[in-house]
Amino acid sequence: MASSALPGCAQSQSADTPAYEAANNEQVASVRAASYDIQISLDTDGNRMEQVVEMNINNDGSKDLDALYLRYYPYGYVPFLISEWPEGNEGKSAAITSVTRDGTADQLPFASDAGDNTLVKVDLSDSPLKVGESLILQVNAWTDLPILRGRFGTSVFDEGKLFSLTFCFPYLEYMKNGEWYLDPASFELENRNPELADYHVTVEAPDTFTVVGPGTVQQDGTLTTIDAKDLRSLAVFASDCMGVDAFEVQGISISNCYLNVGDVENYRMLTRQYLTDAFDSFIELVGPYHRDCFTMVEGCSNMEFSGVAIINGDFFYDGEVEGYQDRFAHLVHEVGHQWFYDAVGNHEYREGWIDEGFTSYLTDSEIACRDSESLRMVGEIYPEGNALEANIAEREMVRMGLEGDLVGLDHYYLNSQEDKESISTVMGIEREFMFPGQLPDHFYSALFLAQLKDAMGDEEFYAFVRDVYETYLQKIADTEGIKQILLEHDDSDEVKELVSFYLLTS
Ligand SMILES: [Zn+2]
Repeated sequence: MASSALPGCAQSQSADTPAYEAANNEQVASVRAASYDIQISLDTDGNRMEQVVEMNINNDGSKDLDALYLRYYPYGYVPFLISEWPEGNEGKSAAITSVTRDGTADQLPFASDAGDNTLVKVDLSDSPLKVGESLILQVNAWTDLPILRGRFGTSVFDEGKLFSLTFCFPYLEYMKNGEWYLDPASFELENRNPELADYHVTVEAPDTFTVVGPGTVQQDGTLTTIDAKDLRSLAVFASDCMGVDAFEVQGISISNCYLNVGDVENYRMLTRQYLTDAFDSFIELVGPYHRDCFTMVEGCSNMEFSGVAIINGDFFYDGEVEGYQDRFAHLVHEVGHQWFYDAVGNHEYREGWIDEGFTSYLTDSEIACRDSESLRMVGEIYPEGNALEANIAEREMVRMGLEGDLVGLDHYYLNSQEDKESISTVMGIEREFMFPGQLPDHFYSALFLAQLKDAMGDEEFYAFVRDVYETYLQKIADTEGIKQILLEHDDSDEVKELVSFYLLTS
């Protein structure tokens, strides 16, 4: 599904012409959605959602716009997922039914891109969006929520259902320096717009369902309202078998949303401790949490969103007691994305090494390899092995393997699609399930940071990490900027060599 790139993409990923350089043009287009107002109606029997989405869009550039690009993941997601999990999902689909403007009933022409149907072009040529002006785009859409155990769709248990409403809201694509970022969407790789926007969401669902999301959530019977500021992405979950365990860590309100399925008591107890240790660790290593609340939802996949994450709880309801130490690392990883992804943004497709690298390094090499109350608790409940020792041993083994992969290469650019694809081919990664960028983004960028820490020493390395956080808090980081911060902290030959091996910069 992700293999068909758009015409502009091959060029935009080319190693020697980074497309995110400013267009050499006096007129620069710049457009963003400042806010989204979303009305969701959830059909919990039919496993389907309808939505009316109003986007408040501003033209901040110096060029009139005669088209807008939207992203609607369900166009690609739903057919792909039902081809993988056909049972119970026959005939499922998704559609945008209308696009209108400024409260009028006049339909704007729109069409999915032939190469990547998640990309929808809206034609404004009859009345371009002029410089300095704004418009309200109203998009009516629906999607089936396929039955599967994943990060999107309907998860079915004997005790009830969980609807994971993620990657299913139409949004305005990202534009930088006059260029639309039209990179392909894929199943495994995220490619979201990193700009911040405010959200006002209403969800209609039967009152037997608990609805959770980011920011302030108020449920009154069948209607739930969600108000949240400065989100890079929206995720909403609804379940009739969910409980919420609320507590605080360092003044942050944490909602630990658990399913009343399987080993509920151990899930609640362990997840609460995991969350506590994860927040304490990231605050200590990186800086304060930038929101006043966070929601962790037990589901069937691991994924980060702004102010919310989902964590796979199958360990607790499928009864297989294995990989107990991994539970900790997965949860800490998704919490870590609140610092690198949500607080510090970056384009996940082109520069995924930033959020995945910092998060993976801090999680796997630092936090999971420290003594913690969580790992002690895991050892008491599942005394099959020592979780801390297992994590440390695994980390050493993984690092040796990754360093081995890079022997003989004269560069391995974390921000070049070509390099990532070449190493994926060497490693024989299944293209259909794993986007070629996925594994390198997580592993090799974490290796880069581990080698940097060895070269710089702990103190300077963490000063660099905190500097990146403070510089790009609620902004969008890029490779060039991070390189500059790094060299301000340490411009030794060893660090410069690592930079020129891993980063393609100007
Ligand atoms: Zn991640």
